[in-house]
Amino acid sequence: MENKKVYIETLGCQMNKSDAERMYGMLEHIGYTQTQEPKEADLLIINTCSIRQLSEDKAYSQIGVWGKWRGKSRGKSRGKSENISCDKSNYKNLGEADRKNLYPKIVVSGCVAQQAGEKIFKRAPYVDLVLGTQRLYELPSLVKRIENGERIVSVDEKPFKESEIQINRVKSVNAWVPIMEGCNNFCTYCIVPYTRGRERSRKPELIIAEIKKALSEGFKEITLLGQNVDSYGKDLDNGQNLAWLLKQINAIEGKFRIRFVTNYPTDITDEVIDTVIELDKVCEYFHIPMQSGDDYILKKMNRRYDYATYKRICDHIRSRIKDVTITSDFIAGFPGETEEQFQNTLNAMTELELDYSNTAAYSPREKTVAAKWTDLYIPEDVKTERLARLNEHNRECCLKSNQKYIGQEMEVLVENFEIRKNGNKVITGRTRNNKIVHIPYEKDITGEFINVKITNAKTWYLNGELI
Ligand code: SF4
Repeated sequence: MENKKVYIETLGCQMNKSDAERMYGMLEHIGYTQTQEPKEADLLIINTCSIRQLSEDKAYSQIGVWGKWRGKSRGKSRGKSENISCDKSNYKNLGEADRKNLYPKIVVSGCVAQQAGEKIFKRAPYVDLVLGTQRLYELPSLVKRIENGERIVSVDEKPFKESEIQINRVKSVNAWVPIMEGCNNFCTYCIVPYTRGRERSRKPELIIAEIKKALSEGFKEITLLGQNVDSYGKDLDNGQNLAWLLKQINAIEGKFRIRFVTNYPTDITDEVIDTVIELDKVCEYFHIPMQSGDDYILKKMNRRYDYATYKRICDHIRSRIKDVTITSDFIAGFPGETEEQFQNTLNAMTELELDYSNTAAYSPREKTVAAKWTDLYIPEDVKTERLARLNEHNRECCLKSNQKYIGQEMEVLVENFEIRKNGNKVITGRTRNNKIVHIPYEKDITGEFINVKITNAKTWYLNGELI
């Protein structure tokens, strides 16, 4: 079979990265190999994110660049279209016979594909396939059809057909494993329930098989993924839940770590907290998005908690789990947010001593409830200024959090080895509670667990030495 090459550009969250690994795996079975050089690829896939306008714009801009590469050839480096101008009207009028010979083929997958569907063809007529988030398993058959000149949109919501999906993981230490997908919460700013659909849990036997395979390939850390991992099992109707699943995974032989993201604050159960305490492989780390520290804004966001409740949950977890790390997400400039309400967010971040937070300025997303509140939109310059202050608070919290560990001995799983410009050799890894540590070391021991004494703390990482 002639060797064809595929390049996937992945934007956004870990769920997208995990989908990319699945796409590579499926395409390998129909003769494609991975390339890191997009200009060499016969098939270009952009795996999109629509959480913010910026990510969506980035996707369209990338598709535009790729469109200009189209020409009547395949399998060699391209820089410009050979026969077909990038003019949109030219593409619109092409028949299947003409399209069949045009390479590279271009696929748009991920959340923008799910949300925009056929509209993508209007904006980017050189796209061959629009693949929705729940139609991933169809990729091989659809690629064969676009190779024959068809243009296809496949974005229907249909149950996940697990068994048809193969995985081709990028060699690393950490394997991302989805355990559920979708969300039922409908926070007023969030596009996820529209792009990823309602909550669906994967069958435990498929999750366990995927984890065993990753471990046999040398992966040492398993991160369970889901928009709301606490909902795992609710739709399986057999009493299985996240705590139960963690116990099954913990029972797999060998030394490895288990993490899980993302938690919804009020859905975290004591049973899950108990597993973190009792199970040796489950790490002391929770990612619990708070989004705002103001009760009125939380209500407008349709979050099901107030500040006091969130604080109680953090205090409870911290009182039970030694050295636990709690990270969060925040939005600056939600529609109608006053300076005083924003100040409550800054105060919350500081008072809760959050270890790290992802931050973003509010970005209206089509279909969501908050996007309709145009009269309440915060001016761009105000959002930018608030985001800068939020980031400054975040930096202070991170440094404070890291300083707690100076002098402490911690287990580190090595993820990387580098020789720096000054000739220094350094290994980098993570502690169980997800802190990044740099350690001077002579050789590459990626994948090993080592014990380290923390010598000093920076904003984003710790320095340590081997014990
Ligand atoms: S919980 Fe809210 S923010 Fe998170 S994915 Fe669901 S709707 Fe979006």
